[in-house]
Amino acid sequence: MSWPLQQLLHRNHRLRHVLRAAPVMAMLIAAQALAPAQALTQEKVRPQVFTCEPEWAALVLELMPQAQVFWATTALQDPHHIEARPALIAQMRKADLVVCTGAGIEEGWLPALQQRAANPRVQDGALGMFYAAQTVTLIDPRAATLNPFAGDIHPGGNPHLHADPQRLATVARALVQRLQQLWPAQAPELAQRHADFDRRWASRMASWRDRARPLQGQTVAAQHSTFAYWWRWLGMQQTMDLEPKPGLPPTPSHLQSLLQGWKLQPPVAVVVAAHQDPRAGRWLVDHAQPRRPLVVLPATVVEPSRPHALEHWFDEMIDALLKAASASPTSPAPPAKG
Ligand SMILES: [Zn+2]
Repeated sequence: MSWPLQQLLHRNHRLRHVLRAAPVMAMLIAAQALAPAQALTQEKVRPQVFTCEPEWAALVLELMPQAQVFWATTALQDPHHIEARPALIAQMRKADLVVCTGAGIEEGWLPALQQRAANPRVQDGALGMFYAAQTVTLIDPRAATLNPFAGDIHPGGNPHLHADPQRLATVARALVQRLQQLWPAQAPELAQRHADFDRRWASRMASWRDRARPLQGQTVAAQHSTFAYWWRWLGMQQTMDLEPKPGLPPTPSHLQSLLQGWKLQPPVAVVVAAHQDPRAGRWLVDHAQPRRPLVVLPATVVEPSRPHALEHWFDEMIDALLKAASASPTSPAPPAKG
């Protein structure tokens, strides 16, 4: 990478001009300009954090509520397909830390943002660039394909890892370490906040498992691998994908073909994410027998700034699925024993 060097040279070049013009002021500017490393380690009261998806905004706010956190996408947007627009570039330019999922989900827009923002603190490999997917193992790696029309296939594994409460706890552990590296003066407070979060999260996971027992062993139809980690965690199985191939939009012929399997093993519900077009799912529940509900779930937290936003998201997903399961009388849940 040569551009930070260029920037520094440019800075010194400007400096020489100023030196000739006004020596005293120049000394002041020089003190600032010649100490970029110092400036980076100087701790801000309110660090600027740019997050690619709302779940990471919510997690950063859990660990560091004083941070000024920006999220580039909402629960109503498809994180695979975002435009690298000027407002996002401006936010990334001033970021001290960028938190994204990685594993290819943002490959269509994040590199463009990093390049155009030209912020050395948040380039790949810098301490200020954190990828959640690098801290956990991913499920379902696929053989890479060179076909540009293959859709969002995620050859490195499924990047939608935030829907797994267990992996989320692992990410939180890695994230707090990164925050401590970036802001060492706040390390004790960060450790305390993380310990509180981790304890509460463990007890929430236990209660979710308990509540979700009727869902164990149930099957669902869904669109894309958006909730794959969540089904796994719940002990559910996605037996139908509304996408004919990973990342490709549903087609009438593919939906038609799903009706056959439906009769043999009706899923408990058809689940689509809030950012996905619900028409395919709607068609399926209108044509399949026995009837099953269409459940629209946000694929991430809706309001990251709401206290404990991640917990609310999982709570609401379990509520919606339990409601759907109780509305599916011909596929009773296995009785909870013991
Ligand atoms: Zn995906």
